[in-house]
Amino acid sequence: MSTDTASFYFPAPRTQRYCSQCAHALERAIPPDDNRLRDLCNNCGAVHYQNPRNVVGILPVLNGQILLCKRAIEPRYGTWTLPAGFMELGETTLQGAIRENLEESGARIEVQSLFTVIDVPHANQVHFYYLAKVLGPELDPGVETIQARFFALADIPWDELSFRTVRTTIEHYISDTRQIDSGSLSAYPVHNYAIKLTDSA
Ligand code: ZN
Repeated sequence: MSTDTASFYFPAPRTQRYCSQCAHALERAIPPDDNRLRDLCNNCGAVHYQNPRNVVGILPVLNGQILLCKRAIEPRYGTWTLPAGFMELGETTLQGAIRENLEESGARIEVQSLFTVIDVPHANQVHFYYLAKVLGPELDPGVETIQARFFALADIPWDELSFRTVRTTIEHYISDTRQIDSGSLSAYPVHNYAIKLTDSA
């Protein structure tokens, strides 16, 4: 049986008490030929594997300004985020990122390139952000967004950002933009890195 406490942060529990196939109570144990604890059903034999979830989003830019959305949902209600969310079954990372941007900001965009791929092992997640050009100032934020607006790079609300993956993605964008403007970088690269629980915000 799970000893984890429930948390609103996760969209679904990472351990389960009852079998999703036959509703029998589960045992938490290492299966034969495995090396990790799993939720096992001794009645029907189902093994309830859990794997990392993907968060997909957009870094939308209009005339050098970044589009941020003020979250109308937990976690981190009221803080500013890049439009992003959990990837759905049956879609690609790019399709998911475009969908999340449409849902949260309503901005019309033209995606340019994959920008950050961030491992967040303590949250069992991988975050993908695509760089996109915003095609016009019109916004139509959805129910998960209190407000959407553009921020000049000098005005990013650093103390009110939602997540470290948002912060580091914006930091990379500002650093790369400076290098592109100075001629030391020719295009925005892909940044792949990990954020650890012990890293400072
Ligand atoms: Zn079962």
